[in-house]
Amino acid sequence: MVLDYIVVGFGLSGLSFVEELENHNKSYVVFEDASQQSSRVAGGLYNPVILKRFTMAWQASKQIETAASFYKDVETKLQKTVVSELPILRRFNTVEEQNNWFEASDKPVLEKFLSPELIRNTNPAVDIPFHYGKVKHTGKIDIVNMLSAYAKNLRENHILIDKSFEYDKIILTKDYIQYKEIKCKHIVFAEGYGVKNNPFFNDLPLHGNKGEYIIIRSKALKQKEAIKSSIFVIPLGDDLYKVGATYNNQDKSSEITTTAREELQKKLEKFLKVPYKVVDQVAGIRPTVRDRRPLIGTHARYANIHILNGMGSRGILLAPTMAKKLYNHIEKGTSLDKEIDCKRYKNL
Ligand SMILES: Cc1cc2nc3c(=O)[nH]c(=O)nc-3n(C[C@H](O)[C@H](O)[C@H](O)COP(=O)(O)OP(=O)(O)OC[C@H]3O[C@@H](n4cnc5c(N)ncnc54)[C@H](O)[C@@H]3O)c2cc1C
Repeated sequence: MVLDYIVVGFGLSGLSFVEELENHNKSYVVFEDASQQSSRVAGGLYNPVILKRFTMAWQASKQIETAASFYKDVETKLQKTVVSELPILRRFNTVEEQNNWFEASDKPVLEKFLSPELIRNTNPAVDIPFHYGKVKHTGKIDIVNMLSAYAKNLRENHILIDKSFEYDKIILTKDYIQYKEIKCKHIVFAEGYGVKNNPFFNDLPLHGNKGEYIIIRSKALKQKEAIKSSIFVIPLGDDLYKVGATYNNQDKSSEITTTAREELQKKLEKFLKVPYKVVDQVAGIRPTVRDRRPLIGTHARYANIHILNGMGSRGILLAPTMAKKLYNHIEKGTSLDKEIDCKRYKNL
């Protein structure tokens, strides 16, 4: 039997592509080796606005609609709550920032997402000198729960193989691809930063950016909304909060570091006024690309080998849209915008 697809990697990208395959009744197997952690350590926030500059993220208003129905469908399939609404409050550091927020909230593209009202802080546990701006239509995806529940279903159906995909075992024939005992029509690589080991695509300029979070416990904080200051404070329930993240272009390991913990604690203590304890720390590599656009499409020489990658720091919103685009490209011949097509880099 020749399967329709092998999917390599089961993070947000792999799961999004698997959803396309499920919705179109395609046959497939997935390989996953837990070598990358990006999706599992992510903050889980979806938010279409860049909160440093008060601008819309690239094509985010379209992506948020696709993502909303995507995660709702996944919830129905898994019979689990995956999405929760979570307001994000932007802490202003200066009056100037506050004024810039007002200006931005008046722009047609942003008015749906930036509330023009200033929010007065009522929580004595945090120091908020210039009020907050509230971002609307934001929330949180329980990625770990979603990936684990989805993976469990796939495992039960013998569709998920908990092994590393070995690139040198691929044999390309005229009619199909042979991988060990499996025959398939297409392979979709969705390995995040792990693509660096993939000889078909490792010359693409996916540089990766390491991010770390600390998890703190504070009984006195009692914060319900997420706060965005120089870092995020994301409530997890049970007096736990995710605090971060760092951005590091040099270190490409997934190990946690003391430097990151100290940096995050220093930033947190600038506005947190109550005691807390660091109870955990996590790290992962964001699959970031030189031009900050996804990397999707088909290999220049091998028509049945594809990539779904480059989600950078916005995988929650990007992955469902990009998976759909890649699926339509492969199955229906729909052309890809040059901006996202991996062939925009001539060195393939
Ligand atoms: C600290 C941090 C915070 C973040 N916060 C957010 C956030 O709040 N919101 C948001 O939208 N995004 C966030 N991101 C970004 C988001 O996590 C990424 O965009 C997204 O997870 C990328 O998903 P992916 O599936 O492409 O890659 P990955 O999550 O890296 O998944 C790739 C998978 O492929 C597997 N794999 C690799 N090689 C092989 C192989 N040879 N064989 C088998 N399996 C293999 C890996 O084990 C991995 O599971 C954050 C990232 C980090 C690091």
